[in-house]
Amino acid sequence: MYIVALTGGIGSGKSEAARQFARLNVPVVDTDVIAHELTAAGSPMLPELAQMFGAGILNADGSLNRAALRTHVLDNPAERARLEQLLHPAIYDRAMQHLRDNDRKLQPQYQVLVIPLLFENNRYRSVIDTILVIDCDEDMQVSRAMARSQLTEQEVRAIMAAQTSRTIRLIGADEIIENNGSIMELIEKVNKFHNKLIKTCLVSK
Ligand code: ADP
Repeated sequence: MYIVALTGGIGSGKSEAARQFARLNVPVVDTDVIAHELTAAGSPMLPELAQMFGAGILNADGSLNRAALRTHVLDNPAERARLEQLLHPAIYDRAMQHLRDNDRKLQPQYQVLVIPLLFENNRYRSVIDTILVIDCDEDMQVSRAMARSQLTEQEVRAIMAAQTSRTIRLIGADEIIENNGSIMELIEKVNKFHNKLIKTCLVSK
């Protein structure tokens, strides 16, 4: 298995890049999607979360109030650590399962594992072959993240401040795709990275 970790700050363009890998028939496993699945309505994790953080993090219909949980942990690093201790091992286990299934069924040359919090989390280090960082200017991150969500500028900046700094992310990268231009340009850069990597994978096989 050859695994490319795809990471970057909020609004940097990870999801757009991941979509292009998928169009190239590269299997994509997204830890954010898994986190959503694990906290979807009916998930056994919801009662545990409510017990840990109070019923206020649930909506009236019993589903997760993501905004309430986010606000709760953003203001409180200790609570955030408790949330991560509960969620991260479960996300990791499911991600590994998906990667193994893809490998068995599809035998791809490589797979993409989207991990927004890669640098906050050592768990994935041993399974990753290459770290690909999607990067753009911070003001652009803010405006793109705001355009996509209900978040205010202040909220996006608070999330950015709680994430690994851009500098640390860039230092940790094996490859960087700069996404200050158009989506077309991003797509072309992903294609180029893909073509280069396919050659590397072929050589190392
Ligand atoms: P992330 O997954 O890193 O949070 P997304 O890929 O969802 O970021 O991008 C954030 C928003 O910005 C999305 O609405 C996306 O379509 C848009 N976006 C991403 N890259 C570009 C780009 N190069 N040009 C214009 N919009 C972009």
